[in-house]
Amino acid sequence: MSSIKLDNLTKKYGEIDVIKGVNIEIKSGEFVVIVGPSGCGKSTMLRMIAGLEKITNGNVLIDGKVVNDIEPAKRDVAMVFQSYALYPHLSVFENIAFGLKIAKLNKDLIKTKVSQVASALELSDQLNKLPKQLSGGQRQRVAIARAMVREPKVFLFDEPLSNLDAGLRVNTRIELAKLHQSISATMVYVTHDQVEALTLAEKIVVLNEGVVEQYGTPMELYFKPVNKFIAGFIGSPKMNFIDAKVVEVNKKGCKLNILDKVIDSYFSFRNVQCDQRLSLGIRPENLTVVSQRDCLFNGSVEIIEYLGEYNLIYIRIPQQELLCIKVDIKLSFNVSDDVCLGAQSENIHVFNEDGLSIYE
Ligand code: ADP
Ligand code: MG
Repeated sequence: MSSIKLDNLTKKYGEIDVIKGVNIEIKSGEFVVIVGPSGCGKSTMLRMIAGLEKITNGNVLIDGKVVNDIEPAKRDVAMVFQSYALYPHLSVFENIAFGLKIAKLNKDLIKTKVSQVASALELSDQLNKLPKQLSGGQRQRVAIARAMVREPKVFLFDEPLSNLDAGLRVNTRIELAKLHQSISATMVYVTHDQVEALTLAEKIVVLNEGVVEQYGTPMELYFKPVNKFIAGFIGSPKMNFIDAKVVEVNKKGCKLNILDKVIDSYFSFRNVQCDQRLSLGIRPENLTVVSQRDCLFNGSVEIIEYLGEYNLIYIRIPQQELLCIKVDIKLSFNVSDDVCLGAQSENIHVFNEDGLSIYE
């Protein structure tokens, strides 16, 4: 087990800043997921931890020791890529054993280690097969087994499930979670898929254009997003945003003008000023159809998606993006219905004009 620290980690390709001074501490045994849109620098960051990419500025520390100039093979780190890169002419056993043979371990020890790992990843019956005789999920498990058998201090995964179809992705995700529980190694896992991040991670790093937007537990990111980027990125379907303006502030709270209508009741938001423009963030599961009395704004039903367990209703509101609400299948809606929408005050996220969260 090993801790990792990224200290002002910076990467430039020529004039282009790709990683812009990242500071992160990963505790020994933690499962940390780096998530962000395609091209934001996730692979570059992981490759710098592995030693496959030169560091422009700052430090990578493993167990408190700067490893910037230590070659990949000596960092005791194993990396699993999106493409499994197995040797096609070698059996599953030989693929898993490859690194151990290079390290000149004795044959019996290799056999013991490979069979232990194969058993953990349910590959015991596949050891004599060639990679082409396996499914995509099994091949990816072989790639993971090849990393595991070396018993590295740190596992690095770069979108390891992206090439698998949806069902296998879920199964292999569960395998990975089990693997982490059983060997409690430090794992850093890169994905562009926020569902994968939320389900696997103990902590999530959200990276955007080479900058860490937020680093926290899945719950912190979901319930206390620090800015609109995080709020919109974490959660599916994504959070709705509605423009508002503060028209009065007093002891009772503040009064808001939402979409050109002053709302009668007071909101408990603090740290806001009269005339301040706000963006209200409400998740589809928190935005509900309400009576006229509790109405924050109204709109008309434009699209209905039936998803079995629940329905998603998309609502058109003048001068706003289409809003999405998640509703019980028992509620019936028709296209063009006019609806009043509302939300509990505690479920409204408030952002200032710079897109930063205002929490009490
Ligand atoms: P991600 O893994 O998040 O999709 P990458 O880390 O692969 O993103 O890339 C981040 C940015 O760095 C991208 O804009 C990419 O074009 C650029 N980049 C990656 N590798 C190189 C390279 N060898 N030379 C120049 N630019 C690169
Ligand atoms: Mg990548």
